[in-house]
Amino acid sequence: MKFLIDHTTCLIHRTPYVGDACQLNQTPLEQREGTHDQQYIDELMKSKNYAECGNCSNIDMF
Ligand SMILES: [Zn+2]
Repeated sequence: MKFLIDHTTCLIHRTPYVGDACQLNQTPLEQREGTHDQQYIDELMKSKNYAECGNCSNIDMF
């Protein structure tokens, strides 16, 4: 799973499911970060109050 971190809104998106509702197009490119590192994501959520985006993270992929 690849994640896309939006540092302006402190939201973590799932790259394959990002859609218009995520409003990523309002975020400058340099404020977006792509990663495959689940541990990094966990750290951001635990220690920096980042949250999973409700628009693309609730999709049941299994
Ligand atoms: Zn999203």
